[in-house]
Amino acid sequence: DREHISKDKTILLRQKYIGPSCKLFFKSDPIKIVRASGQYMFSETGERYLDCINNVAHVGHCHPKVVEAGNKQAALLNTNSRFLHDNLVLYAERLAALFPDPLKVLFMVNSGSEANDLALRLAQAHTKQKDVIVLDHAYHGHVMSLIDISPYKFNHLGPDAKPDWVHVASVPDRYRGKYRDTEHSLDELSTLYAQDVEDQIQNIRSSGKGISCFISESLQSCGGQIITPPGYLREVYKHVRNSGGLCIADEVQVGFGRVGSHWWAFQLAGEDVVPDIVTIGKPMGNGHPVAAVVTTYEIAKSFAGLGVEYFNTYGGNPVSCAIANAVIDVIETENLRENATKVGNYLLSRFTILMTKYQLIGDVRGVGMFIGIELVKDRSTKEPATAEAKHAITRAKQEKVLLSVDGPNENVIKFKPPMVFSLEDADHLVNILDRIFGEIDDSRQVEKLTEKELIKRINGASMS
Ligand code: PMP
Repeated sequence: DREHISKDKTILLRQKYIGPSCKLFFKSDPIKIVRASGQYMFSETGERYLDCINNVAHVGHCHPKVVEAGNKQAALLNTNSRFLHDNLVLYAERLAALFPDPLKVLFMVNSGSEANDLALRLAQAHTKQKDVIVLDHAYHGHVMSLIDISPYKFNHLGPDAKPDWVHVASVPDRYRGKYRDTEHSLDELSTLYAQDVEDQIQNIRSSGKGISCFISESLQSCGGQIITPPGYLREVYKHVRNSGGLCIADEVQVGFGRVGSHWWAFQLAGEDVVPDIVTIGKPMGNGHPVAAVVTTYEIAKSFAGLGVEYFNTYGGNPVSCAIANAVIDVIETENLRENATKVGNYLLSRFTILMTKYQLIGDVRGVGMFIGIELVKDRSTKEPATAEAKHAITRAKQEKVLLSVDGPNENVIKFKPPMVFSLEDADHLVNILDRIFGEIDDSRQVEKLTEKELIKRINGASMS
C-alpha cells in the first residue's frame, strides 16, 4: 500500500528522468525502500533491512519525537529567517552550548555543501587569502568551490583538475598511508603527518602567497574511515595558525556524538584543540535538510565587514530549527552517545576477533559508531581486496544487511548506522560478516581455526 508504482516502473522512470550520474546504491540490483523505523528499512515487499549506513537518520529513521516536532511547527508557521523567531535563537543558544569557546556564532544553512562553501568564504574574508590546504581523498561537498577542494572528486577529473590555489597534504592513515604504525608510534605519526601540512604551508609561502585555511574532517570518512592519530590536529592547527591561516573542521559526517565520548570528533584531540570554524549537517536534522557553520565572533565580524549581507531562504527556518532541536533532545534523553560508545566498542572487539580468523581483514579501526574494516588480499603487501569488498556488501544485502564500501581503493567496509543500533544488531551484523568472510576464505584456502583455538588465541592477544 506504500507503493505508487511497480519497482520496474520506478527503475524505468528513474532512468528516463533522473540524471544518470546520480548515485544509486546497489546499481545492478537496487532496493526500493518504502518506509523505515529506527535502524530498520523496509522494502516494497515488506522485507526488513538492518541499516548500517544511514548516518543521516542519526537518532533512528522517522523518530516520532522528531517527526512530531516538524509536523507541529509546519502546521503553525514556516518562513525565512528575516523575521524574528524564537526557534532560531533558542536552537542557536542550545547548539552553541555544545561547543567550546570561542565557537559561539551560528550560520544556518540547508546542506553540508552550503556549510562548507560558506566556511571557505568566511576563512577567505577573515584572512584575505585564498589558498586552501586539504587532505588527500577528502570530500567536502558537491558545489563548484568544494569539488575544487575535494580530491575524492577532482582526482577523477584528470591531471589538471586541481586548481593551483588548492594544496593537498597526505591523509594521516596509520595503516596504508605514507607513514605507518608498523614503523612509528602514534606520537611520531602525528608529528610526521602534521609536518606534511607544514611542508604545504612552506610551499605556498615560498611562492609569495598566504593561506586562508586548512580544512579536514576530524575523522576522514569518504577516504576510508580513517582514525586520525590523537596528536595530529593539535600539531596541524599550530602550524596553520602560525602561518596566519584558519582551521576548519568538517563534522558533517562525524558530528553530533557519532564518536560517542564527545559531541564533536575534533574533541578527541584534546580540550585545547579548537577549530576556528566547524561545519555540521547530515545528522543535524535526522533526514530533514538542515546544516550550519559554527564560528567565532571575530570571524563572523570580518565576514560582516565585507559589507555584503548574507541571506539564505530556507536556512534557519522555524521548521528546520524545531526538527534540529528535537534531534538534540533525543540524543540526550535516549543517551545515544553512550550507546555509540557501548555498541561501537563491542563491535570493534568482535571485528577484531574476526580478524584473527580471516586473513582477508587487514585492519579494523573505529571510534563509537564510525568503524571501518579494510580488506586485503595479502596482509604483508596490503594489496586491496576490492572485488572481495564489493562481493561482501552484495552478499550482506542478500542477507538483508545494508553496508557500503569506500576509500580510494574501495576496499573499506563502512559502518555508520543510526545511533540506536543495538547490541543484538551488532551480533547479527558480525554473524553475517563472519559467514560471508568464511565463504570468501573458503575459496582462498586460508588458515581456519576452530572456535576453541580462536578463543585461546584471542585470550592471549591484546584486544586494544
Ligand atoms: N562534507 C562531508 C564530510 C560529507 O560527507 C558530505 C556529504 N557526503 C558533505 C560535506 C556534503 O554534504 P551535503 O551532501 O549535505 O551537501
